[in-house]
Amino acid sequence: MSLLDAIRRYHPELTAIRQDLHAHPELGMTEHRTAALVAEKLESWGIEVHRGVGGTGVVGVLRAGRGNRAIGLRADMDALPLEELNDVPYRSTAPGRMHACGHDGHTTMLLGAARHLAETKNFDGIVHFIFQPGEEGCGGALAMLEDGLFERFPCDAIYGMHNRPGMPIGEYGIRPGPTAAGGAFFDITVTGKGSHGARPEASIDPVLTACHIATALQSIVSRTVNPRDPAVVSVTKVQGGEAYNVIPETATIAGTARFFSREVAGQIEAGLARMAEGVAAGFGATARLDWRLIFAPTVNDPEQTEAYAAAAAALVGEAKVARDKPPGMGSEDFSFMMEKVPGAYIHVGNGDSASVHNPRYQFNDAAIPYGAALYAQVVEQGLKRGDR
Ligand SMILES: [Zn+2]
Ligand SMILES: [Zn+2]
Repeated sequence: MSLLDAIRRYHPELTAIRQDLHAHPELGMTEHRTAALVAEKLESWGIEVHRGVGGTGVVGVLRAGRGNRAIGLRADMDALPLEELNDVPYRSTAPGRMHACGHDGHTTMLLGAARHLAETKNFDGIVHFIFQPGEEGCGGALAMLEDGLFERFPCDAIYGMHNRPGMPIGEYGIRPGPTAAGGAFFDITVTGKGSHGARPEASIDPVLTACHIATALQSIVSRTVNPRDPAVVSVTKVQGGEAYNVIPETATIAGTARFFSREVAGQIEAGLARMAEGVAAGFGATARLDWRLIFAPTVNDPEQTEAYAAAAAALVGEAKVARDKPPGMGSEDFSFMMEKVPGAYIHVGNGDSASVHNPRYQFNDAAIPYGAALYAQVVEQGLKRGDR
């Protein structure tokens, strides 16, 4: 029996789990019910379970044979603050919360792989099933790392995945190298001197200064970053003042930056500080930058990318695996784990659906076997059983 067919035997059970998770979405770092369900399922299949890793994270450990090589498989568990607009029997029961990124599906796919690997143990080594909380900008990957994820559960390679609306069911997309952008949020506080709106000579105007800074920041990408390195600086908030006739003391500018390397992130951060402080000084004001890295760039290791693509091709054939998927400007916090352990991140076709983060997005249950089988395949292939 093929691996896909073996996993398909659990499809009804896995679909029920997915729809139950969908009906009970939990926001990042509060996935208590989800984590309990995951832990309970893993234990019922005889897998060693570690709860509370980095908050609500769960790690399952499965050993077979005598091998010491270890593979980490990672899925995310959190939902989004969004009101669901789908009319389905398993619609979200939590007002203002929805699994609109398909993490209910990812969690289920990894559970499917765990169930299969625990039953068949057709590998030699250790598998770490990493169920991560808070992927949606909530710092869940970093929380697990800070809780000693890879010291407690060392891995030689790690693999993650994300469903992709618009890509047919049963197809995969991956590329070596940068595959998703890193992202940072920034705030710039400009401090001047307030006065009556009719007496500008008594003021140091932080609003005028902030306007000049916001304009000048647009030169960072166009004039200081190498044009071959895609990057974005977007100013998305400008705030200052409350009244028509008062020049305020302070004004703030905020926004986001995107980039595909830590080096470019450093250039942008330094550019923001230099430009804001320099322009402010010209007006006699001061500016202070607060820069927060939310997502590292997601960079696929070439060797693990090859292994992952080969595993996908073993399931569905080479023609259904795109090995040169263009990188996207979206972000993914599995990137922080891949900075520690060589890994790869793949897109799994979700068929027709609204895009992720849309209130009409739908995870397609037909995709479950393709995610679960791929996780299992990359283990059976990477931790191949020798003749014993
Ligand atoms: Zn998302
Ligand atoms: Zn997501």
